[in-house]
Amino acid sequence: MRSLAQLVDDGLDLLAGRRFDPDLIGGNVIDLGHHRERVTALADRLNAHRSGRPKQAVVLWTSGYSAVTKRGPWVYIARGLVDALSDDAVAFVLAHEMGHHDLRHLSPTVMIAGLLGELQRMEYQADRYALDLARRAGFDPKGGLEALDPDFWKAEPDTAMADWPPRLREWVNRFRKSHPPLELRCEALRQALAAP
Ligand SMILES: [Zn+2]
Repeated sequence: MRSLAQLVDDGLDLLAGRRFDPDLIGGNVIDLGHHRERVTALADRLNAHRSGRPKQAVVLWTSGYSAVTKRGPWVYIARGLVDALSDDAVAFVLAHEMGHHDLRHLSPTVMIAGLLGELQRMEYQADRYALDLARRAGFDPKGGLEALDPDFWKAEPDTAMADWPPRLREWVNRFRKSHPPLELRCEALRQALAAP
């Protein structure tokens, strides 16, 4: 059964998600094209193993390596990631973003109290959640190591999002600086994978 907190959260998501974010549509940063079927199928597999409201995966029009989430029924992933990563790794990325919803990281009180240490802790929590969710949904949980591979991220194109409206670029990148280093996230994942 859903907890009261989860019901309140779902209600807030519904309010936020009555229509698609006009900012993003106006900014021409949504890719409604050829990746849609693949990421929708991956998200659906994950949704079947979550208890919260289903999340729809939306592809952002950038060759960059980004994934973000905000209130509403969507999680966002850059086409750069969708192009470069295996299904298992894309599923991990989507599951991580779903985790921020399911772990209630987006609730206003958490966001206001978003101190750096707390933000970093939430990233590890979302990684761990993603590992478990991906595993339940039948994905190879090592997809997480592929998705967080520091060498892969070093190859991110410099020009990604160069033609984006600055406000939206800022939105996608706003938490990058507060994320723990990829090396540490990989190490935490490796330990979780090795645990019985
Ligand atoms: Zn995150």
